Amino acid sequence: MAAPSETSYIESFSRLRSILEEPPSPSPDRGTLDPSDWPGFRAQAHRMLDDILDYTQHIRERPVWQPIPPAVRDSFRQPLPPKPSPLASVHDTFIRRILPYAVGNVHPGFMGWVHGGGTPVGMLAEMLAAGLNANLGGRDQIPVEVERQVVRWVRELFGFPDTASGLFVTGTSMANLIAVLVARAAAIGVGVRRLGVAASSKRLIAYTSAAAHGCIAQAMDLAGLGTDALRIVPTNGQHQIDTQALQESIATDKRDGLAPFFIAATAGTVDVGAIDDLRAVADVARREELWFHVDGACGALAMLAPDIAPRLAGIERADSIAFDFHKWGQVPYDAGFVLVRDGELHRRTFASPVAYLSRETRGMAAGSPWPCDFGPDLSRGFRALKTWFTIKIYGAEKLGAAISKTCALAQYLKQCIEREPVLELLAPVALNIVCFRYRSEHPDEVNQDIVADLQESGIAAPSLTSVNGCLAIRAAIVNHRTGKSDIDALVRAVIASGSARVHRCPKACR
Ligand SMILES: *Cc1c(COP(=O)(O)O)cnc(C)c1O
Repeated sequence: MAAPSETSYIESFSRLRSILEEPPSPSPDRGTLDPSDWPGFRAQAHRMLDDILDYTQHIRERPVWQPIPPAVRDSFRQPLPPKPSPLASVHDTFIRRILPYAVGNVHPGFMGWVHGGGTPVGMLAEMLAAGLNANLGGRDQIPVEVERQVVRWVRELFGFPDTASGLFVTGTSMANLIAVLVARAAAIGVGVRRLGVAASSKRLIAYTSAAAHGCIAQAMDLAGLGTDALRIVPTNGQHQIDTQALQESIATDKRDGLAPFFIAATAGTVDVGAIDDLRAVADVARREELWFHVDGACGALAMLAPDIAPRLAGIERADSIAFDFHKWGQVPYDAGFVLVRDGELHRRTFASPVAYLSRETRGMAAGSPWPCDFGPDLSRGFRALKTWFTIKIYGAEKLGAAISKTCALAQYLKQCIEREPVLELLAPVALNIVCFRYRSEHPDEVNQDIVADLQESGIAAPSLTSVNGCLAIRAAIVNHRTGKSDIDALVRAVIASGSARVHRCPKACR
């Protein structure tokens, strides 16, 4: 049936309404959890909004992170509260005991792991999404169309066809798992959903590099294929997957009667930010008829940055891409995403025909397929809204410029390190991650202490990693707020802490 116009909907709606004898009661139900005093609630709500905007506006005046006092930790070990508390007093507890003790990734001095900085725009959108309380599992609603709009933008960004599917998930860990499951169905058929992997005579084997994120192995575990079925291919001097070794590993497995099915390349490794040679991996995958997946958790969104995007050449040939809007996309947590070239196979990997989810051509159960047909989640939040707001408000160019800026800052940090005789660069700087150390006779101990000193100082918060067996100070510049002065502060603090440590312990002097 043709979709009725907006006016005919309203006409039939008022006809239905006129059948009712009484209009709906305007007075609220007594058992409701809504405020009894809306004006008072509203005033408090505005104070809360102001407080959190102040937090972001004045973030530089705070330490990046600070150790949690035992009394604060203990205050979160109380019994279930039987009685209500006023909103203002609970919010006061938030301000005093929660807000100061977060990890600090809103702060421009935060450079640990790979954490996005978020934006006030994303925060407001998240509030609106919570107000609408939309469940994005499915049904005929514009929130689902907003998610589909973002899916279209993502397809466009990566040059994928209209038949490609996309889905918001918690993060890249989940996105990688979904990719493995779709690839598994491609290799041994969707019948695996009913029969299980044990019924297949094929022993499926996957490939990734030694620099890949641990969640690739976890995905193999969760998919029932086992982590032993993941070949860890060595990397070259640029920390990229060695494609020759990849090729040989596949050949060996085929000779042994195994069934290679999946390659996970990485665009932006967690340790040093290396990008695998995606074109070369795509060639291997095509030649060997394997699924070509890209874990682009942080790096894939470099497609938005014209100066960085060419380094991702080959990503447009992927069968699937996993990435996070909550990292370089600056969208507040969480906003992971999976893009799958064969949208129909993706749907058949997850869709299930249960009666309570049956589809109609009209009413709220229309609009199939639904997001719940593309992943394991049925109830889903409106992650698409904060992403849609972020992309609408800033536009692709400005988001891309923020990404370029973090890479330029990484190059600046690299130059500072090269200028300082006491510092040593430990890995090439391909993107936004810099691994280095303070030179010393006992470098692992000293650099471990330096990182802890810095974190506790609240000045800058890098993290630790290991590069070629050496403990490294790792600065990942993801936050759009980070500037040159933050890099200078990091370098100064590392040198100050390093020289204090080395002088305190003469044995460690070089
Ligand atoms: C962060 C990251 C992941 C994990 O993503 P989550 O969003 O934390 O689940 C996977 N791979 C790489 C390369 C990452 O940087």
